[in-house]
Amino acid sequence: MKAVRFTAWKTFPSIEEVPRPVPGPGEVLLKIAGAGACHSDVAVFEQFDESMGEQLAPAYTLGHENSGWIEEVGPGVTGVKVGDAFLSYGPIGCQHCPACSRGQDTYCYNAATQPYLATGLGRDGGMAEYMTVPARNLVPLGDADPITAAPLSDAGLTPYHAIKLALPKLAGGGKSALVIGLGGLGQIAVQILAALTGADIYATDMKPEAMAEAQKSGAIPIEGGEGQAERIREATGVRASTRCSTSSA
Ligand SMILES: [Zn+2]
Ligand SMILES: [Zn+2]
Repeated sequence: MKAVRFTAWKTFPSIEEVPRPVPGPGEVLLKIAGAGACHSDVAVFEQFDESMGEQLAPAYTLGHENSGWIEEVGPGVTGVKVGDAFLSYGPIGCQHCPACSRGQDTYCYNAATQPYLATGLGRDGGMAEYMTVPARNLVPLGDADPITAAPLSDAGLTPYHAIKLALPKLAGGGKSALVIGLGGLGQIAVQILAALTGADIYATDMKPEAMAEAQKSGAIPIEGGEGQAERIREATGVRASTRCSTSSA
């Protein structure tokens, strides 16, 4: 199969022919539907060097935000079947410490002694026709399009994490959320806010085309630049911070 390989430190990746991987115990083989390119990928091949250590040392296939369909099920895996569509959560910890047990592999207690950090970061990733992944890293896609959903497994997690923590503050009606910066993560933030909250979503950026895109997802655009803060206050009904003191007799 073809794969995008990171072959040496500070070397641009190359497309190579490699053997199709075989899922080990507890793993599945995914036929890749979508593999997002993250800015971290650029750091991997442009900036990283030996000082990063063995966990990220080449050679391996890039791609840590992936989705796909199950092609093969490894020994001991139950509850999934060939053809089912999943997102693949990238980070892979020790799988048994308290953090990994909560599904927070990014906080793995044993991260320093793991052989790699994630699929596509030290272990073969999804910029290939097929990829193996532990079955515990699969997130069902339901009726979402497996191809366009791939970035939700990485770029989507940052805004989702922030919005999830803010959900109690956004509930109850008459609330506003402001998304500052409408690159990839900001655009996904607008979509997640629209899906999970009833808040008015304001979005601001210096690029008119980025604001137009956010508007399509339900955001109310606020022009950046001079006077931006005043426009935000006016739109959201928040007055400039004046401290109000009351005295009681
Ligand atoms: Zn990433
Ligand atoms: Zn762990």
